[in-house]
Amino acid sequence: MEKIEHIGIAVQDLEQSNALFASLLGTKHYKTETVAAEGVRTSFFQVGESKIELLEATNSASPIAKFLAKKGEGVHHIAFAVTDIYAEITRLQKAGFTVLNETPKVGADNKLVVFLHPKSTNGVLIELCQEKEK
Ligand code: ZN
Repeated sequence: MEKIEHIGIAVQDLEQSNALFASLLGTKHYKTETVAAEGVRTSFFQVGESKIELLEATNSASPIAKFLAKKGEGVHHIAFAVTDIYAEITRLQKAGFTVLNETPKVGADNKLVVFLHPKSTNGVLIELCQEKEK
């Protein structure tokens, strides 16, 4: 894995949290994006070579809505950048990790993404992401 690409944080109100994180980080979010298939609206902040991704649910069936109901606001996942997501899936499955979606899906920021079940990673939802070829 190359680096921490971003840290995802579940929030109740994206506008309020955009203002809060702008104040915290000293920089404004540079984009917002809705991923309809996942039921989330996201915004991104650049922090050095990594990003902060804020996630708000767009409907009650959204995984973010379920997370917020269960755990409240807070760190939702850590995303690592990889160069060959298919090779990483194979490697991690062999090492005993539970890959939630074996076929990478298109996530926010035009990336191929795969998630590892937090039960296999000390309670932390792990995302692998790879830049999609344009
Ligand atoms: Zn993410």
